[in-house]
Amino acid sequence: MPNKARATLETLYRIFTVPEAPDSTLGLIDQAISDDVTGFLQTHIVAIERNLEEIEASFASCAIPEEPTYVSEYTEFVKANLVAQSVHTAAPGFVGHMTSALPYFMLPLARLMTALNQNLVKVETSKAFTPMERQVLGMIHHLVYRQPDAFYPPWIHNSQSALGAFCSGGTIANVTALWVARNRLFAPDGEFRGIAQEGLGRALRHRGCDGIAVFVSERGHYSFGKAADLLGLGRDHLVKVRTDENNRIDLRALRAECRRLRDENILPLALVGIAGTTETGNIDPLEALADLAAEFGCHFHVDAAWGGPTLFSDRHRSLLAGIERADSVTIDAHKQLYAPMGAGMVVFKDPTAVSAIEHHANYILRHGSKDLGSHTLEGSRPGMALLVHAGLSIIGRKGYELLIDLGIERARTFATMIRQHPDFELTSEPELNILTYRYCPRAVQQTLTEAPTDQAAAINALLDQVCQLLQKYQREAGKTFVSRTRLRTARYGEEITVLRSVLANPLTTDAILTSVLTEQCEIVQQQEIPALLQQVEALCNFR
Ligand SMILES: *Cc1c(COP(=O)(O)O)cnc(C)c1O
Repeated sequence: MPNKARATLETLYRIFTVPEAPDSTLGLIDQAISDDVTGFLQTHIVAIERNLEEIEASFASCAIPEEPTYVSEYTEFVKANLVAQSVHTAAPGFVGHMTSALPYFMLPLARLMTALNQNLVKVETSKAFTPMERQVLGMIHHLVYRQPDAFYPPWIHNSQSALGAFCSGGTIANVTALWVARNRLFAPDGEFRGIAQEGLGRALRHRGCDGIAVFVSERGHYSFGKAADLLGLGRDHLVKVRTDENNRIDLRALRAECRRLRDENILPLALVGIAGTTETGNIDPLEALADLAAEFGCHFHVDAAWGGPTLFSDRHRSLLAGIERADSVTIDAHKQLYAPMGAGMVVFKDPTAVSAIEHHANYILRHGSKDLGSHTLEGSRPGMALLVHAGLSIIGRKGYELLIDLGIERARTFATMIRQHPDFELTSEPELNILTYRYCPRAVQQTLTEAPTDQAAAINALLDQVCQLLQKYQREAGKTFVSRTRLRTARYGEEITVLRSVLANPLTTDAILTSVLTEQCEIVQQQEIPALLQQVEALCNFR
């Protein structure tokens, strides 16, 4: 590097005190994102695609730079190597993952949050941010459990309780929920001082059982695997129950699994219902799961990381009926509450439930303090709740209702386009705003319904390759984006590769969805795909 700033006390002092000049590189970027963030992203996330290996070369050195450098020099590096080569997740044609465009106010408020640099672990470093976060948890609790207004005053700002835990996302929320469930199952009891104190081995001996299990459908999020590992259940005891043709947990299979584990002397810790599966957006029968959990006497958790905000919609809320019977519910704010990455929540029906994971430290989190950190897995945490509070306050219930209704409507429109298109097959109907499909011309679909198993398997294997390449080329072209996954579908009884589309960006239009399909039809005529399709055709003609 040619330009080296000198490491003097004076330059360091300037870094902490002197604002960036408006005409400097960083100052200009700052201005540009303030003026028009959409335009900035469009122009600065570049079309010239470098492959990841090339990009890695810009981030190869593990030596910490010895000498300070100029901010402008560093910013030029960021512009060229980071911004330009990041993913335009806000683009209306980016309909493959759970990221969306953000409401404009999130950006300046996020800067304000950084400027204030509060730490929500304790009141001493967050003051008003603590009651504000507690209010956000109360609002989400109310959204889920609809308790009367008089329910909240004794709990919302109570040092002994918390209506939930704010965290970095759905994963930590799910882990927290099961952590609470585990500690309540093995609560202190006579001589036994509880699992938190004595550990899992003694807890099992105390209850006279050989293990504990969590039940979730095979569409369950991978975070439950992490939770099973972390909490000592073991991944073998995360029981993945098969799903029906609508990707919902099969209740008979669930009962059978529960019985099987009972016979092995394994105690059910929790049943998990999913409200909006990550891959297909389907909702488990929550009422029936609540009944089963009551019957087994275990914790009932609902993972509504994705689908929770459906509760804002008068029209669609009933899809989640039964969620109010859950002991705990996860909702991700960085998904359908349109907050930036890094905001999730878990709320508990019983406001004293979190005392099962209460912990204290002498210098903070003292007994009787209102520190939120005494009931969270994470320690230091940013003031992200501000951004959720802003969304709830500015967009409001009716605003979110519109966004939810719009997404579901758009998914139905897209499903109709796919169904009517001669070259695509819809592989999961949208219940919310997520659907899956694949490239599979109608004649091939016809053959597959009649073909013997091995012929169908051979055709599906080729279509899997088509799907994989199609998704890859589309991503590389950078115009529109869908994701892909592998699902066992009731129709084929085996896993197939499918394209996955998430319709949560309000700026996505029907015309853009048409262009997604048009582009895919163009892509299948390129590179290796026609050869694969010829093989499919040959297999179809062979009877
Ligand atoms: C996204 C998601 C999660 C995980 O949330 P993160 O914020 O990625 O940690 C868990 N469950 C479901 C259903 C999800 O959609």
